[in-house]
Amino acid sequence: MKYDFIPLPKKVVYNDSYYHLPDNTLYITASQKLMKRLRAGINDFCKELKEFCNIYAEGILAVTPLKGHINLIVDDSCELNDEGYLLEIKPEGIYIISKTAHGLYYGMQTLTQIFKQVTTGKELRGIRIEDEPALKVRGMMLDLRMQTFKIDYLLKFVRTLAHYKINTLTIEYSDKFPYYGEYEVIRNPDCFSEEEVATLVEYCHDHFVDIIPFVQCFGHMEYILRTEKYRYLREVDEYDSQICPLNPDSLKVTKALLQQVMRLHKYTTHLSIGGDEPYHLGECPRCADYATKYGKGGLYVYYANQLCRIVKDMGLSTSICADKLLAYPDIIDFLSKDFIILDWDYWTYNDNPTKIMNWNTLKMVDRAGISKSSPEMKKFIQSVSLDEKGNMIPFAYSRYFSQKGFNVIGLCSTASIGPDGYWVPHYDVHIPNINSFCKYIKEYGGLGIINTAWERFLFELVYYGIIYCSEQCWSKDPDTVDNFNRKFVKLFYGIDDVDIIEWQYRISRPFVIVEKKYPKVYKLEEYGRIPMTVFEIAQNNELKENILEAQEVYTKSVDKVKWNKYNLKEWILGAKVRWFWYEVTRCYAEAAGNPENDESVNDNICYLDSQLSKLREDITSLLSETMPEKALEIKKVVFFNLYEELKKEMQVREFKHTGV
Ligand SMILES: [Zn+2]
Repeated sequence: MKYDFIPLPKKVVYNDSYYHLPDNTLYITASQKLMKRLRAGINDFCKELKEFCNIYAEGILAVTPLKGHINLIVDDSCELNDEGYLLEIKPEGIYIISKTAHGLYYGMQTLTQIFKQVTTGKELRGIRIEDEPALKVRGMMLDLRMQTFKIDYLLKFVRTLAHYKINTLTIEYSDKFPYYGEYEVIRNPDCFSEEEVATLVEYCHDHFVDIIPFVQCFGHMEYILRTEKYRYLREVDEYDSQICPLNPDSLKVTKALLQQVMRLHKYTTHLSIGGDEPYHLGECPRCADYATKYGKGGLYVYYANQLCRIVKDMGLSTSICADKLLAYPDIIDFLSKDFIILDWDYWTYNDNPTKIMNWNTLKMVDRAGISKSSPEMKKFIQSVSLDEKGNMIPFAYSRYFSQKGFNVIGLCSTASIGPDGYWVPHYDVHIPNINSFCKYIKEYGGLGIINTAWERFLFELVYYGIIYCSEQCWSKDPDTVDNFNRKFVKLFYGIDDVDIIEWQYRISRPFVIVEKKYPKVYKLEEYGRIPMTVFEIAQNNELKENILEAQEVYTKSVDKVKWNKYNLKEWILGAKVRWFWYEVTRCYAEAAGNPENDESVNDNICYLDSQLSKLREDITSLLSETMPEKALEIKKVVFFNLYEELKKEMQVREFKHTGV
C-alpha cells in the first residue's frame, strides 16, 4: 500500500521489503540529550500509537541503534536542512535521522501518519522518505482580542499545529495577558494566569512551536488605551485605538508592556510590534506639527524605528505590518532594515489578479484605478505591481519588499471579518488565497507564511484552512486541493468519504446582507453568485437546501469519524447558526415585502425567538467545552445583538437592510 501524508514530503521511495513489529513493546531509542528534548514528542507518539493502533510503545535510552525498533539519530552530515529528516523503514528496524531534535520530531509525526494508515497485520512496507520544509516560518495567528479559550484546549490546538509541522504561533494576547503592577488595569476578567502562560510556553517549546508575541504598539491599542489610567496616551481622545507617538510617556509605557510579555516567554526570539492600521496619524496638535514638517509617513517611521530599537535592545528580532509603509511608500527607505515585513493580503487568490490594494486610500484598484490614484501612489503602485507587459504581478508588495532586501512574511487568511458571515469561514475565498500566497512567497524568497483567523468564528472550523496551509508552506510542490481533501478526511477524521469537505465549502458561502460591515468593500459578488438583497436570499432555494443538507451530512458523519469528532460537532453548530440567519433573513424579507401585516410579523418573531433560544442552548452546551464561561457569554451577546436590531426594525417597520 501507499501512504498519504500531510504535509506532502519532499521525496518518498517505496521498496518491497517489510518491517515486522515486535511481539511485545516497541521501543523508541534516543541518546540521553535527545531524550530530554524529545520527551514530550516521544510521549505523544507512544500515546497516539496506543490510541490509533493499539500498539504499546515506550521511549528508552540507547547509545547505539536497537535492531527491530525505532531509532532516533542525530547526524550532522545529514544533507537536509535543520528541520529536515530522513525516515527509513527497513526489515531490520525504523530509523529517523536528522541534524536536529526538531527534525527528528517531524520524522516522528510522519511515522505517526504511517501507523494511522496501517489497519491490518503487524507489518509496515519498506520506505525511504527525505523531507524538509520549503519555508522557514510556517505560522498561525491566534487572535485573542475578541474571544479566548480554555488553556487545555489551546494545548491541543498547539499539538495539532505541531503534528502538521507548523512551527510558529503568533499570539495577540491583547487584554488576555496577565499584565501586572501598574499595568494590571489592562487585564480582562478572562485573562490567562501567569501559570497558564508558562504552561503554554513550555508546551510550545516541547512541540517545536516558536511563539511570536504580537504586541500592538501603535494602532489597535484598545487593550490599554481603553483604560481610564492610560487614556491620556490616546492620539485622539474619543478613539481608544491609537497611541500618540510623540507623547513622552508612550515609549516608556510600551517598553514596559513588552518587557512584561517577554518575562513569560523565555524561548521567544521574535517579538512583533504589530503596527497596522493607526488611522489617526498626525491628529493631536503635537503630531500635527510634526506631520506638517515630515509628513504622516515620516511620523510613522520615526516612531516605528524607535520601537524597533527597543525590541532589538532586548536581544530580539522584530516585525512590522506593511500597510502603513505602503500607504506612504517614500518612508520605506528610512525604515530600519532590522524589521521583518508582515505583508497581509487576504484577497488575492490566483496568478492573474486584476486589482491591488492602494493602501493610502484603502481601496482595491485595477489598472485604470491605479492611473487615477494620487501622483505619488500612481507612480509607486505602477512601478511595483505591473510587469513589462503591463500585467499585474501577484502579491507584488511581498516581491517588492523582498527585492528591497527585507525579510518578508506573508499573512494569508483562513477567516476574517470580510467575506465570512456568522462564524463560518468562506473557504471559496480563503483556500485559493492561502494556496497562491504560499506559492509566491516561495517564489520571491520570503521567510514564510503566517495564516490568520481574525475576530469571532467557530474555532474548529478553521482547522481545515490551517492544515491546508501547513501543506502549502512545507511542501515545495504541494498536492492539488482535491488530493489534499482526500488526505485530510483520511488523516484528520479517519474516514474515506470526502463529501463532508464539499459541504464545508457550500455551507461557508456567505450571505452578508444582514451583516452591515463591509459588504461593499469586499465586492462579494466577485466570489460567486451571492444574493445581495434579503428578498433574493429568502428566495434562494439552493442556499436553503445547502444549509439543511450540510447539517444532515455532518450529523450522519459524526458517528463514522474516528478522530476529531468534536470538530464535526462545531460544523453542525455552524450549519445551525447559518440556518438561524437564513430564517431571520426570510422573515425580514417577508416583513419588508408586506409591511401592513402585523400578525404574520408577530408570528414570525415568536418563531425566531424560539429558534434562538434553542440555538443559544446548543451554543452553550458545545462551546463551554472549549471557552471560559464569561468569554462565551460575550460571544453570544455580540452575536445576538444583531438579531435584536433586526427584530426591532421588523417591529417598528423600518427596513434598513433590504439592499446595498
Ligand atoms: Zn500625537
